[in-house]
Amino acid sequence: MAFPSVFLDELNSRNPIEDVVGQYVALTRRGGNLFGLCPFHGEKTASFSVAPEKGIYYCFGCHKGGGAINFVMEMESLDYPDAVRFLAKRAGLEVPEDNRDHSQYKKKERLWALCRDTARFFHAQLKTPAAQEVRQYIQKRGLGQDTVTRFGLGYAPNQWSALLDAMTAKGYTKQELLEAGLVLQHKDRGTFYDRFRNRLMFPIIDVRGNVIGFGGRVMDDSSPKYLNSPETTIFNKRRNLFAMNVVKKSKSDYIILTEGYMDAIALHQYGFDSAVASLGTSLTQEHADMLAKYTSEVVLTYDADAAGQNATQRAIPMLEKTGLRVKILRMQGAKDPDEFLKKFGADRFKLLLQESENQAEYRLRSLQMQFDLSVDEQKVEFAKQAAELISTYTTAVEREIYCNRAAEMAKLSPDVLKQEIARAYKRRTAKQKREQEKRDMDAVAARQPKTREFRYDNMRSAVAEESLLRMLLREPALFAQAESLEEADFSVSMFGKGFSLLRERWREDLSVQAGALAEVLSGAEMAHLTAVLQKPDSLVSEEAFRDCLQVIQEEARKAKGTDDLLAMQERLRKKKSYGGI
Ligand SMILES: [Zn+2]
Repeated sequence: MAFPSVFLDELNSRNPIEDVVGQYVALTRRGGNLFGLCPFHGEKTASFSVAPEKGIYYCFGCHKGGGAINFVMEMESLDYPDAVRFLAKRAGLEVPEDNRDHSQYKKKERLWALCRDTARFFHAQLKTPAAQEVRQYIQKRGLGQDTVTRFGLGYAPNQWSALLDAMTAKGYTKQELLEAGLVLQHKDRGTFYDRFRNRLMFPIIDVRGNVIGFGGRVMDDSSPKYLNSPETTIFNKRRNLFAMNVVKKSKSDYIILTEGYMDAIALHQYGFDSAVASLGTSLTQEHADMLAKYTSEVVLTYDADAAGQNATQRAIPMLEKTGLRVKILRMQGAKDPDEFLKKFGADRFKLLLQESENQAEYRLRSLQMQFDLSVDEQKVEFAKQAAELISTYTTAVEREIYCNRAAEMAKLSPDVLKQEIARAYKRRTAKQKREQEKRDMDAVAARQPKTREFRYDNMRSAVAEESLLRMLLREPALFAQAESLEEADFSVSMFGKGFSLLRERWREDLSVQAGALAEVLSGAEMAHLTAVLQKPDSLVSEEAFRDCLQVIQEEARKAKGTDDLLAMQERLRKKKSYGGI
């Protein structure tokens, strides 16, 4: 829907970009701009910038950018109108709504409230006589009252409509319960019934504290043993980790990643307050990015079985890509952390944590296990692959240490292996150099936008259009000199659209800020535009402005001229062929 410009203007001025971003990202001032760690990609050095006077943010790492509305869209996964509502709420503004509009955001708010009430309902059930068995189970697992409270554990009664009845009595509709994944609908009869019955319930809470789903563990032998909420509009397994809402407050230097929520809870019970679990999916890049926002080191404690080890191998590169240090915990004498803690206690686990291997060690050891090193042929193959692996380690010290370690494993002389590693290292760096040269050669193409769909057809005009917009945003008074310029003169349509809207705003005496363009430009276009606005400026002067204007109009005339010429040729060609009949 379209919101009135006056309202959007008020919205933008009441939500300064540095305040909106500052709620999610710690920003430090450097000159006129603010910098922080990008919330959209994991990073260790601040390449995320906020320009308060331009009202925009831009990340030099992942090239995301835009105004306050774009930021909220991206950060809260909202569409444009809902991001507007979100900011309006933040600033205490009334949104001019048309009534037929049932917004996605309002729906989400309803589902969050429903899930919160459901969690309360399950938690209260834990005190009823029917929950006797669950209470015993909790006790048997060694979970104290504080843990039960902190994670809001609960009990889903062994009935078909206990939750359904309780929540409809509170005013939620059956449809809402269905959308939240809390009830199922009978295929033939169309009746609704509770999804979770006779289970110990674990609410799943996102980092902002919203209950978004549930996990439930059976109390009898029925299957599945663990049942999770399905994906819903508020529950995305790829983007959420169990206990992240608790762990984000932890003072620990690392986050422990476990395979199941029972492991994570057990760790918290034993005082390890930085354990999270994925939710019945393997680790995703989104998970890795999220972890990188809260810590610099992750300890993987997946199960000791083959499946767990495969999951570990898959997780390492994803985590490392974000700049995280990765350590791998080797469980001995137990299959998972929960069992280990019960058998050996917290102190032994702490020791295990301290001894956990960095990924360099882990990879070498994993490689070793694939070979029988008493067989000569296998020894040679191991040496080759170990050399290849070790050559990828970043520091010379690391390469030295693991060269010796590998030589020891294979009972080879370290010198032999050292030469092999040196050769592999050379091959690798030569390849990297070739790739770099190729990138350098493409330097000209570097002025082209990152996104393919925005390729500039007319570079001369596009560069002038970029500068022109930069100058107008810095000095809106220059619009007075651009009266003769038309949207159609622009060779890049998004610049034309942006120019028109900004000029409109300037004429109506509204603020001329890039953020206002979120109304007419797509997210990708906004990102590109903000990238353009971040480029270093030459001085803003009337002269420079006139030069840009001239280039744009000249190129526009040329393009039009060519079109006219083509049309004329076409007419001539047709005439001729008719004449020939
Ligand atoms: Zn970024």
